[in-house]
Amino acid sequence: MSSKDWIEKDYYAALGVDKSASSDDIKKSYRKLARESHPDHNPGDTGAEERFKTVSEAYAVLGDEKKRREYDEMRSLFGSGAFRRNARGAGQPGGAPFDVSDLFGGGGGGGDTRFGGGGFTDLFSTIFSGGGAGGAARPRGPARGRDVEAEVALDFSDAVRGVTLPLTLRAPGVCDTCHGNGTKPGTQPVACPVCHGAGVTTRNQGSFSFSEPCRNCQGVGTVVEEKCPECHGTGGVTKTRTLNVRFPAGVADGQRIRLAGRGEPGERGGPAGDLFVHVKVRPDDLFGRTGDDLTLNVPITYAEAVLGTDLRVPTLDGTVTLRVPPGTPAGRVLRARGKGVVRRDGRAGDLLVTLDVVVPAAVSDEARAALETFAAQTPPAAREHLEARVRRFG
Ligand SMILES: [Zn+2]
Ligand SMILES: [Zn+2]
Repeated sequence: MSSKDWIEKDYYAALGVDKSASSDDIKKSYRKLARESHPDHNPGDTGAEERFKTVSEAYAVLGDEKKRREYDEMRSLFGSGAFRRNARGAGQPGGAPFDVSDLFGGGGGGGDTRFGGGGFTDLFSTIFSGGGAGGAARPRGPARGRDVEAEVALDFSDAVRGVTLPLTLRAPGVCDTCHGNGTKPGTQPVACPVCHGAGVTTRNQGSFSFSEPCRNCQGVGTVVEEKCPECHGTGGVTKTRTLNVRFPAGVADGQRIRLAGRGEPGERGGPAGDLFVHVKVRPDDLFGRTGDDLTLNVPITYAEAVLGTDLRVPTLDGTVTLRVPPGTPAGRVLRARGKGVVRRDGRAGDLLVTLDVVVPAAVSDEARAALETFAAQTPPAAREHLEARVRRFG
């Protein structure tokens, strides 16, 4: 746990509570979420395991009055949740992308912009020991829904031209039948008979005693006697929704598209989170891409390079004829203007054709004889500048 974690992570959102939530509400919400995401209820589901860790980490701070006060103080200094999102480069409306490390760039004298370095920790120690720097915690209104991340693989030509695809999202949600408490409608969870509602059990070993989450109730403190038929007592269900996502022409591999307000719904009418779609572009077997330009390698013979030729090559949606002038060197790049990626503003990149002069591995007797005649007629290659250096070594 570091200062960086505290600034970047919205523990209130992780627990789905307001910043002004009482410690009872926090505890209640933690128990519910811990139960939903508990690895025992979700065997093999790494997503659930991650959520369980997130929830536990959040509760370790918010469930402790002293830590919670320090956390609030730090986040009120640095703009709370908006900061976290901006720090990842996705600005909120009206908020410029902002990198946490900018705060410390050059300011520390040593120019150390890294996190976890002494400069960062020292700065916060100073702020806190100074006292009175924090300011009162402000209620934020209903909790904003979580951001959702998804990944989509696009075909090369779809990415170049733009495409609209349905995107199916599966996300954990609260069971509508039991509203998340896991009990059959009309019944209530009862205090766990093993830990008597504490959620932890204590074991003595020699002079030490160990506390651990109660195995009977998974640390929740209550057990469900009559399980909800919909969610089988977990209180959570996987909800599926489908969105049509428009990928603009020219979207590139590794790009991230933000769909504001298409993430998880907020709790109790709070604003929805954002959906971030990470784009993977499948490579094409012919074309490559550099920005808005498409690239293509075309093999030509030595004779074509020397004598010149017209080449008919494919573009993404047709063909184009390119003139190879006589005496074209190997590796020359020819440009077919406007045959690259067409952007929304109508401007287009080019198709860049790289000429590969291919050398045959074997030739016919006639070709060999012709080539020998050719060689006898050709001045030697210009290697004097190399030979001068070679002579120096005897
Ligand atoms: Zn228990
Ligand atoms: Zn249920």
